[in-house]
Amino acid sequence: MKKNKLANNPLLLTADQANAIVSIAEDAIISIDAEHKIIMFNHGAEQIFGYPADAILGKPLELLLPENQRQYHVNYVKDFGNSSRNARRMAERSEIEGRRKDGTLFPVEASICAIGTGDDQIFTAILRDVTQQKAYDEELRKAKETAEAADYAKSMFLANMSHEIRTPLNAVVGMTSLLLDTRLSTEQKDCAQTIRASSEALLSIINDILDYSKIEVGKLELEYQPFDLRGCIEESLDLVSSVAAEKQLNLAYMIDDSIPAVIISDITRLRQVLVNLLSNATKFTKHGEVVVSVKGHESDCNLYALQFSVSDTGIGIPADQIDQLFKSFSQLDISTTRKYGGSGLGLAISKRLTEIMGGSMWVESEPGHGSTFHFSIKAKAGGDDLARSFMQEHAVELTAKRLLIVDDNMTNRRILFKQALLWGMVPTATASGVEAMDLIRHGHAFDVSILDMSMPEMDGLELAQQIREYRDPGSLPLIMLSSMSQRPHTQLMEELQFAAFLNKPIKASQLFMVLRTSLGMEKPAESGVNDNGFDPGLAERHPLSILVAEDNAINQKVVKRLLQKFGYRPDIVVNGLEVLDALERQHYDLLLLDIQMPEMDGLEAAQKISEHMSVEHRPRIVAMSANVQPSDRAACLAAGMDEFLAKPVELQQLRCILELSRIIPTDQRLRIADNLSSDIDIERIEMIRMAQDDEEPELLVSIIDMFLEESEERFTAIQIAQTRSDCTALESEAHRFYSSCSNLGLLRMAALCTELEQRAEECGSLTAQKLIDHLKQAYARVRPQLMSLKQDSQTIIQADPINSA
Ligand code: ADP
Repeated sequence: MKKNKLANNPLLLTADQANAIVSIAEDAIISIDAEHKIIMFNHGAEQIFGYPADAILGKPLELLLPENQRQYHVNYVKDFGNSSRNARRMAERSEIEGRRKDGTLFPVEASICAIGTGDDQIFTAILRDVTQQKAYDEELRKAKETAEAADYAKSMFLANMSHEIRTPLNAVVGMTSLLLDTRLSTEQKDCAQTIRASSEALLSIINDILDYSKIEVGKLELEYQPFDLRGCIEESLDLVSSVAAEKQLNLAYMIDDSIPAVIISDITRLRQVLVNLLSNATKFTKHGEVVVSVKGHESDCNLYALQFSVSDTGIGIPADQIDQLFKSFSQLDISTTRKYGGSGLGLAISKRLTEIMGGSMWVESEPGHGSTFHFSIKAKAGGDDLARSFMQEHAVELTAKRLLIVDDNMTNRRILFKQALLWGMVPTATASGVEAMDLIRHGHAFDVSILDMSMPEMDGLELAQQIREYRDPGSLPLIMLSSMSQRPHTQLMEELQFAAFLNKPIKASQLFMVLRTSLGMEKPAESGVNDNGFDPGLAERHPLSILVAEDNAINQKVVKRLLQKFGYRPDIVVNGLEVLDALERQHYDLLLLDIQMPEMDGLEAAQKISEHMSVEHRPRIVAMSANVQPSDRAACLAAGMDEFLAKPVELQQLRCILELSRIIPTDQRLRIADNLSSDIDIERIEMIRMAQDDEEPELLVSIIDMFLEESEERFTAIQIAQTRSDCTALESEAHRFYSSCSNLGLLRMAALCTELEQRAEECGSLTAQKLIDHLKQAYARVRPQLMSLKQDSQTIIQADPINSA
């Protein structure tokens, strides 16, 4: 075989070969001598610059350069030549401008090399005309800008659509709830219930499509906040519990002991994923159970990898269809769509949401036996408490109490058993009435017993009857475990004297309460809530003066009637100016404030109220808006509002807001809140004050001092991180500052720190700087308040000995 000599020894390239390469090159190859005279000008150069080689050889290089840049390039080549210590040197590629024979200028990519030294030095440049490439780049840039503008227009359109559709739906949902609370014939009631169910379904579809579009254009913002994980799971289960009860499915959840009780994540999105999986699981399961479980481990300092599973005993999914599952608009079997409904978007959205939350989603399934959907997310712990600590500190009275659990369902037995253990109780679990009766007959002593209502062979009622032959209600209180709809209202039930009822799914908080009630440690809770979710006695038990600001006549009517159903008589105004007038005339405990109103909108009104009214005169301000993006919420909170109520107004949420609008006794407010604005959580300050004792009489003063000292340091560090665009530093500084702010109950500052931490990736940007500026302004507002709080505290401490003397 012939050897390729050229490849081994490039020096063997002959002058002819080199000339051939130079002459066929499309790029311009030009050589100049030490005096910058052109000594070689290839065919490519002729094409690009428009000079025939004969005409340009021996001419100065400057001819090929724009007039105003000639001197610069001549100097550059000189310097390049002088700095070439070696006989051969290459310069890096750079972009310059060239000048054609006809005088036009064009962009050129150039690299240059020098051969030889001194007077013998020769420079050779390879020059590429990049006019066309530049034009492509420009076209691309313009296309990108157009696409981005279209995206923006699309998301604006969606936000507006959402508002426009939600507003009338508000009236539909609200009015139907009111209608259902009036005297209706069975047929009318049925019609109204259908309207309510359909409008709620319509709302959920609108939400789905909105989410999907937002994810598509990458506009979905997560709203991070600390929340109770157990509560989030229980709320999600609540939403499917009535369907589960109808189908007699056992619904349950289990949380691993070692994961944090409070996590920092987007509660709404997590709930959305859980609810979607839970509704699918209940939809596709006829018998058996649906169980949520959460496991996790600390993957990094304070950062947890949490894994959720929703498993069912339903129809299952064939292996060859699993790939289809997470694709948008895909439903496995068209016939099931007709039977079960749905848009086929749920899983696609859920999967994307978990990815945005730092995790993923996958499924295991066996047709005919059921499916388990798993998903993971990453979340920081929102405190030191772990799931196992739930109510532990209050469980002292339950310690060592003997609990008998009777349930045929293993999941429920496990949940009850484990929770009882964590509270220090001594549980015994049996799977049937027969086993339980065996224990009782043999004289085993129990302080309290939980009986499942529906068990094969011997159900809860029958078992209770047998137990009562041996133990009276005083010696063994019985708790009935059932779903709400399964509870029989019979005379037998009364005779057996159940001490309490526990609803499925079993919730730790409810379990705690019923155990305490049954053991005589707590009075049974009263609830005035009727079947439609209204509680006409709430106003009497919990009086509030309420002002509603809403310009839309229909919405006005809805909110007013909803409030009346809870027994309240709100005053109504139609814009921000009227709000201010009304507040001047009279004190209100609660202000429900629409955001979009003529003359003065809700944001401006809230700002004015926070600026001009001291905390003891200010009502609790709740924003009402159909714009439900996190940025809308953030704008409301930044304007000084306390809470956000999405339209259409949901009964449950309104109820929560009414119940939470506790009136803090005026004397307490006056004592601690003189000159305090809503920037500071009064209750937190009061809590610190209460924690002061003889050993630490100046706790509040020292905490304030520490905070003031630390703040200066934090601000400097945050500003440095921002200036250097150091995202990691900005994130950790904002996080550190957040914990100091929340320790002192500095609500606004803490919220801003969280936002800064979440948006740390945008460090160096204008948005980040704006957040920092807001944080500084918030600090400037609270600083004098903290100083005067400190002074007051010191005065009280100094004054006391004199008083007692
Ligand atoms: P939809 O809104 O139609 O329920 P999803 O994306 O949530 O849309 O679900 C898509 C399809 O996946 C469903 O129509 C069903 O065929 C299948 N599926 C989802 N969850 C389950 C489950 N737990 N068991 C059986 N099939 C399921």
